Amino acid sequence: MDRGTTPAVLVTGGAGYIGAHTAKALHELGFVPVVYDNLISGFREAVRWGPFVHGDIRDRAALGEAMETHGVKAVIHFAGLIEVGRSVARPDLFWDVNVAGTTCLLTVMRERGVGRLVFSSSAAVYGQGGRGALETIPEHAEKAPASPYGDTKLAAEWMIQAQCRAYGLSAVALRYFNAAGADPSGLIGEAHEPETHLIPLAIAAALGDGKPLTVFGQDFDTPDGTCLRDYIHVSDLAAAHVAALEADLPVGAFEAVNVGTGQGRSVTEVVETVGRAAGRAVPHSLGARRAGDPPSLVADPRRALELLRWAPRHSSIDEIVADALRWERNPCYGSGLRGSTGRRKSQIVV
Ligand code: UDP
Repeated sequence: MDRGTTPAVLVTGGAGYIGAHTAKALHELGFVPVVYDNLISGFREAVRWGPFVHGDIRDRAALGEAMETHGVKAVIHFAGLIEVGRSVARPDLFWDVNVAGTTCLLTVMRERGVGRLVFSSSAAVYGQGGRGALETIPEHAEKAPASPYGDTKLAAEWMIQAQCRAYGLSAVALRYFNAAGADPSGLIGEAHEPETHLIPLAIAAALGDGKPLTVFGQDFDTPDGTCLRDYIHVSDLAAAHVAALEADLPVGAFEAVNVGTGQGRSVTEVVETVGRAAGRAVPHSLGARRAGDPPSLVADPRRALELLRWAPRHSSIDEIVADALRWERNPCYGSGLRGSTGRRKSQIVV
């Protein structure tokens, strides 16, 4: 993708956590990120690096108009539903937004001659898989999603791949492991409602802003008995999207690529790191396993280096936690707003 001639990139879901960080990375590299978001889970305050279009991913006319108005030449597609538990209760909704929404986007791209897509996929496509407990996961590992959420990500990948072949689109699906951290500027960060992720919950507990943390299981077959996950700094994840956009892919190509570090960190290690960074131990108790949690989910990250020339630069657990802590102490948006004053920072409206 040539920055000089094709600067406008549609970022669906660009008001969300990873989308906003990617919009910032695009802007810093000379692209114009055109954020398209229905603001159901995203935040208007997170859109600061380019134009904003309010719209739903299933709205064909609105998508077409956004592409036309801004001269869009490529798309990074984050818009979708992400809560695994909710996907079990509402699979119809997840298929509608995540799969039918992606179909709608692909149709509009085809109509408009937009030929490059980066798709937000997930390590959830692997599920528990058939691998050994502590093996890293290469892209060709068995796909066995453990939830309707994972099903929709895999189904969308398949559909994108088929449309690449049929219509000459070229696409990269990025399968994220555990996105974490925040932009060091403190302007954007993680704000989920409800928050279920380990690092923000551990920080909230340490800061006295949340409930004590429950560690889900300590009897796994791992070195310290708690689950291993591959935490990747959201800024590294954002850089991976730009690398995928710029990758030299032949017409019709589809690539699925893991985005992780290859290093597993246990829940106990994360809790200790948060305690050190916050200067206060994380109040926590030991609880039962959470349904469906595999003991270990760690990427084999070699394909990303080979294809995208991308490697993580900010994903030590210390840097992730330090940046997440800065954000959680003084978030600019989100219902948490855990800053010591409880006030919002000044907002810049684009
Ligand atoms: N976890 C935990 N207590 C919590 C939330 C998460 O022990 O309150 C554990 C969870 O079992 C998993 C790890 O932290 O092993 C990461 O969970 P998270 O929900 O952040 O991401 P996931 O791996 O489920 O996508």
